[in-house]
Amino acid sequence: MKKFSNAKWICCKKAPDGAVVAFTKTLYFDKPVEKAVLRVTAAGIYEVYCNGEKLGNRLFKPGLTSYKKRLQYQSFAVAKRLVGKVELRIEVAPGWAVGTFIVTRQKGFSDYVATIAELIGSDQDGNEFAFVTDESWEARSTPITYSDIYHGETVDYTAPIVEYGKVDTLTLQTEFIKQIGAGVVENEKISPVKQFVTPKGERVIDFGQNLTGFVQIYMQGKAGERVYLSCAETLDKDGNFYNENLRRAKCLVHYVLDGTPRVYKETFSFQGFRYIRVDECPDWFWENLPRMQAVAVHSKIRRTGYFTCGNEKVNQLYHNIIWSQKGNYLDIPTDCPQRDERLGWAGDAQIFARTATYNFDVYEFLRKWLGDLRLEQGKNGSIGGSCPIFEEAERTSAGFGDAVVIVPWELYRAYGKKEILRENFQMMKKWIEYVRKMGDNEYLWLGDWHFGDWLAMDEGMEDSYVGATANDLVASAFYAYSLSLFVKVGNVLGEDMREYEDLLVKVKQAYKEYFTPNGELLEEYPYTEWQRLNEGETGMDLVRKGKTQTALTLTLAFDLASDREKFANQLEEMLVKNGGRMTTGFLGTPYLLPTLTATGNVKRAYDLLLYEGTPSWLYAVNHGATTIWEHWNGIKEDGSFWATEMNSFNHYAYGSVGGWLYETVAGIRTQDGFEGYKKAILAPMPDRRLGFVDCVLDTRNGRIKSSWKYQKEGVKFVFTVPKGMEAEIRLPNGVCETVTGGKHEYFMNL
Ligand code: BGC
Repeated sequence: MKKFSNAKWICCKKAPDGAVVAFTKTLYFDKPVEKAVLRVTAAGIYEVYCNGEKLGNRLFKPGLTSYKKRLQYQSFAVAKRLVGKVELRIEVAPGWAVGTFIVTRQKGFSDYVATIAELIGSDQDGNEFAFVTDESWEARSTPITYSDIYHGETVDYTAPIVEYGKVDTLTLQTEFIKQIGAGVVENEKISPVKQFVTPKGERVIDFGQNLTGFVQIYMQGKAGERVYLSCAETLDKDGNFYNENLRRAKCLVHYVLDGTPRVYKETFSFQGFRYIRVDECPDWFWENLPRMQAVAVHSKIRRTGYFTCGNEKVNQLYHNIIWSQKGNYLDIPTDCPQRDERLGWAGDAQIFARTATYNFDVYEFLRKWLGDLRLEQGKNGSIGGSCPIFEEAERTSAGFGDAVVIVPWELYRAYGKKEILRENFQMMKKWIEYVRKMGDNEYLWLGDWHFGDWLAMDEGMEDSYVGATANDLVASAFYAYSLSLFVKVGNVLGEDMREYEDLLVKVKQAYKEYFTPNGELLEEYPYTEWQRLNEGETGMDLVRKGKTQTALTLTLAFDLASDREKFANQLEEMLVKNGGRMTTGFLGTPYLLPTLTATGNVKRAYDLLLYEGTPSWLYAVNHGATTIWEHWNGIKEDGSFWATEMNSFNHYAYGSVGGWLYETVAGIRTQDGFEGYKKAILAPMPDRRLGFVDCVLDTRNGRIKSSWKYQKEGVKFVFTVPKGMEAEIRLPNGVCETVTGGKHEYFMNL
């Protein structure tokens, strides 16, 4: 039978906006129950209780999907709990679906918090029973008088519980699906590292780690005492609490105590923070600090990669990458966890996908999100900048929509499962066809609006959002790249790809002719009239260049250079001219070090990894970062902030360098044609400045280890290959051999 077919959506129209509502029903069981399953979902976020006991340990149920298209439900085996009088209580908060969440504000799924549930089972004698949500349920208020994803939570145990009486019913259109993947859970618990008073007189607690989650505090106190907290990621240059970068997200946590001892924490909201400002508290609160912890929450993904080297700053960078992934893999891959955004930006997800697959097993996690992308793809094949948006895609952008090809491909590379390609093949094809139809030239993507090389630092453009690289070039390069991956995907699946192979040849040719006439990238770039109008309108800068670090990088990375050596030399010259600094933004950066490596300039790639000025990865490390910053210049040399608008301190995009640490520094990668580590390549490229590297990767085919260490006369390599796996070992001194399971040691003289 279809799930919830006899149940009704219930809500309470009398409840104030933002408040958490409890929906209750009392049942009586006089015979022992043999089997029973309770299925629940909600418009909002819910917790379910049976006789006051919370069921399950997953947070933020039912999770975030494209609600108008599909909504997850969770199932609980409850037979043992159904004895005598049983109260079922479902508490629902606004969460993503009903709160101020940015996409809900624009395109609502439901105007009220609501739930739908069914309890189905049978007793000892085989008599079946079914209870569903309907008009007989009742609603009442809860101590959580306000909850919102962006604004935080207010829990007032002194607030009288209001009985609202019988519920209202409503109709919501969606399809119910079983929970996909593991859901969100509590993870690390971190104690404060210090508390201090800022120059402004604010009392602040520092957890030493920027994270996503909430604080938990064990408190008793007296009835009416208040503990009011604000969350922030950073301090300003004078050491004061700084939360302007949260934009409209208030991130406030307010507790009113009633004298009962309990652990206080948010139930239906989470914040991105390292610092807590205590805005109000009783005097005894400070003695309570040892009983306060920050709880990190994220989707239950299994850690698979570990990297350590002899350079502590690089180790901190790696730590920051891991923590940004934790903080942003919260049911969907998000851009950031703190400000009024926390959205599934497709560009960010795509940029970070390879690194993500090394750090954790993210197969089911990203597979769920790809399912929503499929549902939201426009009829014409368009893919929006972020997902879920609860609607069909409207505005597309190169490097963002391309996630539909790049993300499944990265999952296939890491885990070797063809089903991920099969599931998404039609979506990829529609996307390629969409791009093909954009503009007048089917081989190029010209004249359209794009986010571009987001937050790049090209000369004179450091304060813009978009960098200098011509959008037409970025878009056409990504078109060629996605198409090349799509051809590979089709071939893996045994599809007839001749049409697209032919298209790829023409796309590459057209790129070379249009963007590199006379074998050179154009310095100046002619804008189209369309861009002049539209970019002016949206405030995007008009300066566009054809020859930037990003332009050269993408042209080389996507195999679009007419003369690879010349272009590689030009990239090197450009880096030197710029004082050894990169200028690349979101779309160029992930390919920069791999491109330098592939063109024989691994030394320069290490130079960039180890550079400490701005822009660089270690600049943020030197400025105390514990997660990856959104902007290279998040905190400027003088301690001021580059901007308030796009200044998250937990944004994994630039953490994409993690992939290079695994695949080049430690040298662990899957072999083409043997994806999912059916065969591996172990080809580390050591650099003395790191001293040593120890790296572990738990592939689905066993654990690989790759280590190297500089010694007096050379470099010692030690590899461990799991039983049954074949690995090709390639060393910089020309050694190239195939080994199987076991430990393998090499020495390379300098
Ligand atoms: C997000 C980015 C995203 C961008 C689109 C921002 O607001 O935080 O990470 O890629 O919008 O360009």
